[in-house]
Amino acid sequence: VGAGNADAAGSRILVFVRLRPMSRKEKEAGSRSCVKIVNKKDVYLTEFASETDYLRLKRVRGRHFCFDASFPDTTTQAEVYSTTTSDLVEGVLQGRNGTVFCYGATGAGKTYTMLGTMENPGVMVLAIKDLFSKVRQRSHDGSHSIQLSYLEVYNETVRDLLSPGRPLLLREDKQGTLAAGLTHYRAYSTDEVMKLLQQGNKNRTTEPTRVNETSSRSHAILQVIVEYRSVDGGSIVTRVGKLSLIDLAGSERAVATDQRTQRSIEGANINRSLLALSSCINALVEGKKHIPYRNSKLTQLLKDSLGGSCNTAMIANISPSNISFGETQNTLHWADRAK
Ligand code: ADP
Ligand code: MG
Repeated sequence: VGAGNADAAGSRILVFVRLRPMSRKEKEAGSRSCVKIVNKKDVYLTEFASETDYLRLKRVRGRHFCFDASFPDTTTQAEVYSTTTSDLVEGVLQGRNGTVFCYGATGAGKTYTMLGTMENPGVMVLAIKDLFSKVRQRSHDGSHSIQLSYLEVYNETVRDLLSPGRPLLLREDKQGTLAAGLTHYRAYSTDEVMKLLQQGNKNRTTEPTRVNETSSRSHAILQVIVEYRSVDGGSIVTRVGKLSLIDLAGSERAVATDQRTQRSIEGANINRSLLALSSCINALVEGKKHIPYRNSKLTQLLKDSLGGSCNTAMIANISPSNISFGETQNTLHWADRAK
């Protein structure tokens, strides 16, 4: 495997930040913006709302962050797609695996970025649309097949979002980790894909919390496998590339609520998956030999799609409101460590 250069220098992960617009609810609550993005790169966490925020701010050194690109709240879905993901799609057509994930607190804009809406489709849909058109352009020099699967990891349990049922078991094989019995859809049109994914998202496990009624504690993983086949001077050439697009669970800390026990079990598991992901990313960035993929279902599933010769991009989603100051700060620090 072409992991040689990765061992020496560490894997390069592209890190992006996307600021969402202030919501009506936040405006009505009288909140102010505490994030400023300059030159599509620099993020300033500036204002403070209360004395405690101010004290916290004083203790923190990094109030200024810089990423590969930072998207202000006016950025379109198409811009986010072309900056973060279109190169990875090209790589997948060349047989190189790629992964994009959205990280951030509940309500920060992860699902909007990944799935989007019918009117404003997100990265998942735009990636598949782009794949369709690229494959069509290249149909003269070989045949491609595009298959997709959509699953969730909830509470360290893997479920098929396109065909809900019993939990799926993970199996290791030469190619990587497989979820046994997972359905693979052959996709034909973008509209069909949008409907499929929206349906899949309805199947995601959601729990009402005090913060947000549709707070999601599940990680949703869309995997698109592109297989290329052609005949070259009598011999058959095949290439397989896999694109993984991941809407991570909310990164906020599990707070004790009325249903304390159940919540904290879930919280612990989500932290476990996110922690495992953080450990893997940090190990990759530092060029460590041992990458602890085995520590969670999420990282097991991504074993063949992170590091080595894979392309990886991370989009950190943040709210502008000073109400979310703490979460925004955590998210920016997390993203900063992934660089
Ligand atoms: P998350 O998945 O991180 O919990 P959502 O993607 O559901 O957050 O976003 C929360 C709300 O904000 C939704 O109503 C969503 O439509 C809206 N929203 C998020 N990002 C944007 C954006 N860039 N532009 C417009 N609305 C957005
Ligand atoms: Mg969501």
